[in-house]
Amino acid sequence: MNIPFAPPYITEDEINAVREVLSSGWLSMGHKTSEFESRFVEYVGSRYAVATNSCTAALFLSLKVLGIKEDDEVITTPFTFAATANVIVHCGARPVFVDIDGRTYNIDADKLAEKITDKTKAIIVVHYGGQPADMKRTMKIAREHNLKVIEDAAHAAGAEYEKGGKVGSLGNLTCFSFYPTKPITTGEGGMITLNDDEFSEKLRILRLHGMSRDAWKRYLQKDNWYYEITQAGYKFNPSDIASAIGIAQLKKLDWMNERRKEVAEYYDEHLQGLDIVLPYIKPYVKSSYHLYPIRLINYDRNKFIKKMGEGSVATSVHFIPLHLMPFYQREYGYKKGDFPVAEKVFESIVSLPIYPQLTERQLEYILKNIKEMLSESYVKQ
Ligand SMILES: *Cc1c(COP(=O)(O)O)cnc(C)c1O
Repeated sequence: MNIPFAPPYITEDEINAVREVLSSGWLSMGHKTSEFESRFVEYVGSRYAVATNSCTAALFLSLKVLGIKEDDEVITTPFTFAATANVIVHCGARPVFVDIDGRTYNIDADKLAEKITDKTKAIIVVHYGGQPADMKRTMKIAREHNLKVIEDAAHAAGAEYEKGGKVGSLGNLTCFSFYPTKPITTGEGGMITLNDDEFSEKLRILRLHGMSRDAWKRYLQKDNWYYEITQAGYKFNPSDIASAIGIAQLKKLDWMNERRKEVAEYYDEHLQGLDIVLPYIKPYVKSSYHLYPIRLINYDRNKFIKKMGEGSVATSVHFIPLHLMPFYQREYGYKKGDFPVAEKVFESIVSLPIYPQLTERQLEYILKNIKEMLSESYVKQ
């Protein structure tokens, strides 16, 4: 048996959607992208959605419309993928890390306020593994200090802050990823949801070379050659090929998250009683179950990954804390010991496979491997 870590779930629906776009004669951003944005707005319950070619581009554009620039500070978590903090650096601003909560692995709202200075302009929260961060408290702190909140919801499409409130409807700007390992995929892609009409307008212009909106309307009518560049924008738009895949994927998002939840419940039940810290999900939120991260209490994490690999079960680590990365140490003086909770969690954490197409047999096989490994360590001790 060979069990990959996170293969995308692709069916005839996506293949047919791509075939249709390829036959239509319009491959670049056009009607399919507009349709994907409208459907996303409807799904999430935000006022606007702006599609991009990655979540990284979405995060970068979000900082740009907020006017983040040299010497500003942006607060975020070190327990995330590099993109979250790299985009702060690209704006010339300083990434200020705040340690995580040891149970949810999300940014610790209790430690947020003490890192705010008069240079702080924004907070980027990450909904780790698909579990929404504490938005109520984060938004309250942000309001008190006149800061904006960007949500890195790369893991969290379909998740809910509380029953009924979909991720993407609350923060100032919410960024989703459609990378192949994420809850839905378009190959590569991203989306920003928001409620502010001025920001929405600006994002659309920045996403496509800085072409004015009126010019963008004309761009869709292929016989009109005129456009205006109102600023030096970027080339961050998706293609209609990607957006067509997104439309097909979005239709199954709730079903896929439900399936991932069933896998999580299977692990919760069967890993009970072993020397493992299971993921903790707050009772009032709905996770997208993007990750199933466990922490090993009495077994070496690196050895665990190696031995699981020998049994052809792929696992992964989310994440190597960013303050341990050479770049962030060299440029900002971060060092080992700065964020003890993130470091401690990182030492023992490993993500197990969790996706809609995992079969009962595959799950049994994963479990058998884990149990054999952990019981063998008892014999030796
Ligand atoms: C994957 C990921 C990103 C980047 O997404 P892309 O679409 O690949 O740019 C950003 N933040 C987090 C937390 C991620 O996991």
